[in-house]
Amino acid sequence: MPIGDLRNLIVLESWGEDAACAKPGAPDPDAFHSEAKDVVEAAARFCFAFCTVRTQCLEDKLAFEAKTRNTRFGVAGGFTPRGRTRLVAERHAAARATDAGATS
Ligand code: SF4
Repeated sequence: MPIGDLRNLIVLESWGEDAACAKPGAPDPDAFHSEAKDVVEAAARFCFAFCTVRTQCLEDKLAFEAKTRNTRFGVAGGFTPRGRTRLVAERHAAARATDAGATS
């Protein structure tokens, strides 16, 4: 998906107008989709430091990726694609542990 399309999706969300990445002074949009680890990690830190809609961005992105089985792409909610994969695995493990506790 082209970067412009991703930005359009963020702006269309109800929380989009508060997105720090869409405001002046934000890192270049390419930084959120860079292949360079240090660049993409800096973009993720920007989200944690400056974005007031980080949680909404993260949850919407995770829901989109789950629904579409989309390949993870770009920073969202302060998480790199690899970070989101780890987060989803942790959530699934926690859910399994809760289920196991409920049935024992
Ligand atoms: S969390 Fe990051 S990618 Fe998401 S809207 Fe905020 S600044 Fe943009």
